[in-house]
Amino acid sequence: MIPSATPELPDLAGMTLVDVEALVARLGWPKFRSEQVWRWVHDKGARSFDEMTNLSAAQRGELATHTRVGSLTVAEVQTSRDGTQKLRLVTRDGFSIESVLIPDGEKTTQCISSQVGCAVDCQFCATAKLGLKRNLDASEIVDQVYLGRKLLADAGPERRITNIVYMGMGEPLHNYDNLIRSLQILTHNLGAKLSQRRITVSTSGLVPKLERLGNELVRPNLAVSLNAANDAIRDEIMPINRKWNIAKLLGALRAYPLEHRRRITFEYVLLAGVNDSLTDAAQLARLLRDVKCKVNIIPYNPHPEAPYARPSDAAVDAFQNECKRLGMATYLRRPRGDDIDAACGQLANRAQGGAAIVPLRIRKGPPPAPAVD
Ligand code: SF4
Repeated sequence: MIPSATPELPDLAGMTLVDVEALVARLGWPKFRSEQVWRWVHDKGARSFDEMTNLSAAQRGELATHTRVGSLTVAEVQTSRDGTQKLRLVTRDGFSIESVLIPDGEKTTQCISSQVGCAVDCQFCATAKLGLKRNLDASEIVDQVYLGRKLLADAGPERRITNIVYMGMGEPLHNYDNLIRSLQILTHNLGAKLSQRRITVSTSGLVPKLERLGNELVRPNLAVSLNAANDAIRDEIMPINRKWNIAKLLGALRAYPLEHRRRITFEYVLLAGVNDSLTDAAQLARLLRDVKCKVNIIPYNPHPEAPYARPSDAAVDAFQNECKRLGMATYLRRPRGDDIDAACGQLANRAQGGAAIVPLRIRKGPPPAPAVD
């Protein structure tokens, strides 16, 4: 067995084809080897150099002295009654992160993390309580997808990942360079071949980064965690609003270049007695009336560290009905994997490994239903 990886070596999963071409040139190999190496990792999902059978043993050995394959290991997989699967993945330095596979008919959406913890401090979010431990590098973002793809492939040929949502731990736009690199890799037509129209990046509203994202060649769908229709409430539950308030956020979103038939998704976590009144619904409808958008209503999933409660089903229905009556496209996000959600935040606690293993939780309660309509 050819040893892969020491932590210092770059993971091929985080390398673009251009990076691999540069490496192959440095090694003095013919150029066509770049595509072969790239395809092994990004298309065929190889997780060891031994699998790269069109390279000689000497070449595999040489590659292993300069790179590694794989950044994460699967520590635990929980499967819900509805087929949702939650993966606890461990980084090479011992942090746990989480990724969720959500089947929906022929589609499977994977929810992935972009950071260990988060610095944004949304008051309703369990991930916020961790603070920011560190950014995930591009290989760790991409490897979540490759491990999810392998899990599905091992289960049978009929299921594959069709959609990706950056809605797990972390604020993706706080890890901008690794976000963009991961998008470039995942959408490459010689690799995982995911369509950018089937990838959604969710943000709490980092206005300057939104402007930058609008100028990128690879441009995913955008979801914005809004959660309030006025600054008083948003200041309270999302302190980032004190820096970039709703007016600044909507200004950036109105300027965001949307392609034909694409809309911005607003996420609105309903917190009982905080943002769930009919007045809030009316204010929301007024606020978004000139934005090409839809609104996902997400009833809150309570956790012990936050002083918020989930509204009653009647209150959720009333809120959505008022939004619809006022002409807003709203969707109630069906809770998925309810039975394994109960273990959210406990998976990592149960794991061995001491302080480097952090508790975690997908940030907005139930894993999202597939984000592409
Ligand atoms: S909701 Fe998202 S942006 Fe806000 S603290 Fe949680 S992970 Fe960070």
